[in-house]
Order: sequence, then structure tokens, then C-alpha cells
Amino acid sequence: MLKFECLFCEKCCYFEDEEEMPVVFEDEVRRLRALRDDLEFVPFGDGRYRWIIRGYCPFFDREKRRCKIHEHKPTSCRIYPLILMGDGNLAISEECEWVKEHPEVKEMEFRELLLVFEDEFRALFRRLLGFVNK
Ligand code: SF4
Ligand code: SF4
Repeated sequence: MLKFECLFCEKCCYFEDEEEMPVVFEDEVRRLRALRDDLEFVPFGDGRYRWIIRGYCPFFDREKRRCKIHEHKPTSCRIYPLILMGDGNLAISEECEWVKEHPEVKEMEFRELLLVFEDEFRALFRRLLGFVNK
């Protein structure tokens, strides 16, 4: 059965377009700012923020091609290539290399996607149901 497996191509930790930048919750802003005080967030006005990252994320280890703050990374990073849109809808990133290699996921029904992106949906449901350390 098809299951998402990250290719560690580093693409999702490098940003050019603002709409691709992570949408984060207020408590995540606080946690990220505790790690670095030079981060920029733009509020949506509903308790969520756009994390403005130009180029590589400051928490990306380019040598190891890994996130340096795996335990602290926000929900948007945990659920990628699922994307929590600014309007609250969920989308599948067209930019993810794995998605490009598996275009059939874009035609799948929701119940199939739940299995393909099992870990990512689990992270999203944990967040939405409030199982987070605030
Ligand atoms: S927090 Fe980690 S996973 Fe998220 S964009 Fe930065 S390096 Fe990538
Ligand atoms: S773009 Fe997709 S395959 Fe590449 S590192 Fe990000 S999640 Fe993994």
C-alpha cells in the first residue's frame, strides 16, 4: 500500500513564495521565539500566523538535510506535504518531490489519503483535538 516517505530533498525547508511559508499557531510562535528571537511572524487575526522565512529555514541543517528542531517544529512542518491553508482548508503540496513522483494521490479519496499520510494526519488531529503542550 502506498505510504508517504520523505525523500529528504530539503525543498520544503526553503522558501520563496509567501503562500508556501508555514502557517503556525500562537503557542507555536511562542515556542519558536523561545528558540530564536529574530523570527518574523505575520498575524492572520484568528490566532494563526504566517511564519516569514526567506530562503532556508534558520532551523534547517543543510549538511545533514534535517530539521534541527524536530521535537519543537510546528504542526505545519509535521503534516507536510499536507498544507494547512490560510482559509483553514487542507491541500496537498504540488511542490513536494514525493508528491511529484506520486501524482495519483491528488485523485485519491479522503479515506485513502488518511492511510497514505497516516502519520501526518495523526499529527494534525492531535493538534486540532488539543493534544499539544501549550
Ligand atoms: S522548522 Fe524544521 S521542518 Fe520546519 S521549515 Fe524549519 S527546518 Fe524545515
Ligand atoms: S519536499 Fe517532500 S520529499 Fe522533499 S523533503 Fe519536503 S516532504 Fe520530503
